[in-house]
Amino acid sequence: MSQKVRVRFAPSPTGPLHIGGVRTALFNYLFAKKHGGDFLLRIEDTDQNRYVEGAEAYIIEALNWLNIPYDEGPGKEKDCGPYRQSERKELYKQYADTLIESGNAYFAFDTAEELDAHRKDHEAKGKTFIYNWHNRLKLKNSLVISAEETQQKIAKGEEYVIRFKSPEDETLYLNDIIRGGMQVETNVLDDKVLFKSDGMPTYHLANIVDDHLMKITHVIRGEEWLPSLALHVLLYRAFGWNAPQFAHLPLILKPTGNGKLSKRDGDKMGFPVFPLEWKTAEGDLFSGYREDGYLPEAVINMLAFLGWNPGTEQEIFSLEELVESFDLERVHKAGAKFDPEKTKWFQHQYIQTVDDAELASQFSKFLKQKDISTALDVTKIVSLLKERATFVSDLWEQGSFFFEAPENYDAKAAEKAFKPETPELLQQVVSILNTSEDFSVEKLSEKVKGWITSENIGFGKVMMPLRLALVGEMKGPDVFDILSILGKEESISRIEKAIDFMG
Ligand code: GLU
Repeated sequence: MSQKVRVRFAPSPTGPLHIGGVRTALFNYLFAKKHGGDFLLRIEDTDQNRYVEGAEAYIIEALNWLNIPYDEGPGKEKDCGPYRQSERKELYKQYADTLIESGNAYFAFDTAEELDAHRKDHEAKGKTFIYNWHNRLKLKNSLVISAEETQQKIAKGEEYVIRFKSPEDETLYLNDIIRGGMQVETNVLDDKVLFKSDGMPTYHLANIVDDHLMKITHVIRGEEWLPSLALHVLLYRAFGWNAPQFAHLPLILKPTGNGKLSKRDGDKMGFPVFPLEWKTAEGDLFSGYREDGYLPEAVINMLAFLGWNPGTEQEIFSLEELVESFDLERVHKAGAKFDPEKTKWFQHQYIQTVDDAELASQFSKFLKQKDISTALDVTKIVSLLKERATFVSDLWEQGSFFFEAPENYDAKAAEKAFKPETPELLQQVVSILNTSEDFSVEKLSEKVKGWITSENIGFGKVMMPLRLALVGEMKGPDVFDILSILGKEESISRIEKAIDFMG
């Protein structure tokens, strides 16, 4: 590839970014970085009716949280800016005019009511109305009326649109990096609106003009845009520009059943569909991966496997490794089933790799929110618990007993562990702890185990009630770790409480 690779993520700010959109952004990012190219963010906000306040900020925040920053875009203006289409508005009309001059587009004056009447009329005859070669000469447009009349109508302020004049009777040979070659008959295409009399271009015109002006070499986007490919290729041809290469990414499907993953599926099925939490103007709240406690690395790794695989057994990939291994040729055509359990699996793997001190600082924030202040060694606690944790909140599930002494004892476990001889045995443990200056795991273990062995007591008889006294249930890490972390005073207080309970 001699030309510098330039790709863009071009969302419309019509709401929060769904993980399908995030996957598109990620694949663009990976492709750009793999080839030493640029990743652009372009906000396609020409449809003012669908504009949603806050959506653009959300998109940018999501990309930042996931560590896939853009090289050019809003706030990172370079030569090709501005990067918001609403700010490029003045630019598009001249391109629509060029197409009129070259005979590739025309003015159309049909009103919405008239077009609706045509549609109904066709339907009544069991046909579909398409504004194209087949009937455009029977409609109200500048292909039919004279140039003077056209100018008069425009001068009078009559509403119009500019439509693309699709070629007749031609077979187009299109190419897609993922899907390979395709043939499309131009006769099935409609004459799409490129420009509206409100002075705004439609998506198709603005998208092609901007991709050209922004020197985009590869268009990587969702499969839902595949039906527009023929028109886009024809537009490049009409302008006399080289078209970029195209790659249409497979759909993301629901975890079960058929169909596309929708924004409502997540909260219905109990997993987020959005990278960040989103509150709608109506007050509905959609959960987000960030707020649900996922690490961005886990989300990235999960997204990378939605429609792509490396062709090896390796599943855990850092962003750098993804950049290294990513290849559009290995993206599948078939839809990718979303698997929330697998996402949790990735999260579990990633939380294991987080440094204990870092995890402890996140867990401390969690504790603070619960109004728990502690003098215990949180880093040590985290290191003992993280193996069983998927989220920071699991550290609490696993280890709340460190911070809150048991109020009562699991009944089934107590029945098994608290026997008539138990108070006496636990009292002995208290004596051992009392005389221990060194509260290290090794020393405590040596002393208590030494005593159990020399007295021939049997480990279960001591260790089970001891655990229950300290934890309240038969769970948690090694008992000597717990004793060592809780310290002499707290350990003894818990054991004495249990002795009293059995009293
Ligand atoms: N604005 C379009 C969207 O919202 C962009 C499609 C494209 O990438 O060409 O998905």
